[in-house]
Amino acid sequence: MHTLLLKDNEADIKKAGEILRNGGLVGIPTETVYGLAADALNPSAVAAIFEAKGRPMDNPLIVHIADIGDIERFSLVSEFPEKARALAEKFWSGPLTMIMPKGKAIPDEVSAGLDTVAIRFPEHKVAQAIIRAAKTPLAAPSANLSGSPSPTTAAHVMNDLNGRIEAVVDGGECRVGLESTVITLAAEKPRLLRPGGITVAQLESVIGEIDIDDAVLHRLKDGEKAASPGMKYKHYAPKARVILVKGEDFCEFVNGRADEETAALCYDEDKERLRVKTFTLGKNGESETQAHELFNSLREIDESGGIRLVYARCPKPEGVGLAVYNRLIRAAGFEVIDLEKL
Ligand code: AMP
Ligand code: MG
Repeated sequence: MHTLLLKDNEADIKKAGEILRNGGLVGIPTETVYGLAADALNPSAVAAIFEAKGRPMDNPLIVHIADIGDIERFSLVSEFPEKARALAEKFWSGPLTMIMPKGKAIPDEVSAGLDTVAIRFPEHKVAQAIIRAAKTPLAAPSANLSGSPSPTTAAHVMNDLNGRIEAVVDGGECRVGLESTVITLAAEKPRLLRPGGITVAQLESVIGEIDIDDAVLHRLKDGEKAASPGMKYKHYAPKARVILVKGEDFCEFVNGRADEETAALCYDEDKERLRVKTFTLGKNGESETQAHELFNSLREIDESGGIRLVYARCPKPEGVGLAVYNRLIRAAGFEVIDLEKL
């Protein structure tokens, strides 16, 4: 299959809309990461997403809308809880996904057999225009091959999916750079399933205290069931082995182990002090820059070739830093060295 590289002009957005209406797959820009979109109400189009990505069938997809009214217009939920309405009012359009009891229009392929559905109203104007052009809600996971870092540019999408999907729309670099915050409102008490650009403090300022799912910070124990199936998989990983290093003496530690095949994923300030190849996340403490840079840096590690081991700085798990930590610890397959405990 030839993959069209489309631009974000009116004619190309219309073309993307037609491909989607006809059951095809299109990589689309959003403010979080690039999504791999299909008509959410067409089961065979949705099934093609899993095929193209090599995604496990038990990992449900997020349904993207271009207007809060789409939820009721397309019967996407069986209940739109009061707290979900309040969060939608405050944070949509934006990088927040809400899980609600699923409506009759949602095919099992989207919800992976669960009785809930994940919904998001992206803020990116091109994403909104494509949804409107398709005249249907779009199911879209991140547009990467399953397991690899999520794409934050159209070139990343092409690297992974060229020849496997109908088209990609180039809408530039993604603003946030990490996937959306996911919260469930289908449980007794609202619970954070995946941290992202909208922080715990922001959510709590609207609906009061929320729970944080165990899988956000910890590896699931054998046999433990994931509230958000995506959290159980190794994820976001470059081909090189990544080890997360906690503690202030990061540079000394890495220099003590320096060789040709070792690299550091570090802060700007560390670069001069390190005797290994470096990939930076931005400045220490600047969580939003780190979120923006992380996936691009993980991809650059693979592209630079010959690197087998990466020591990564451990960010503070607070605010947007919680999302950076959550992705990095999965990229590291939960392998952590705590320098204070050596
Ligand atoms: P992705 O779009 O690839 O970033 O993945 C979407 C994330 O949302 C995954 O972690 C899914 O497991 C999660 N998700 C989607 N639908 C649901 C749902 N109904 N219940 C819980 N988690 C969900
Ligand atoms: Mg993904």
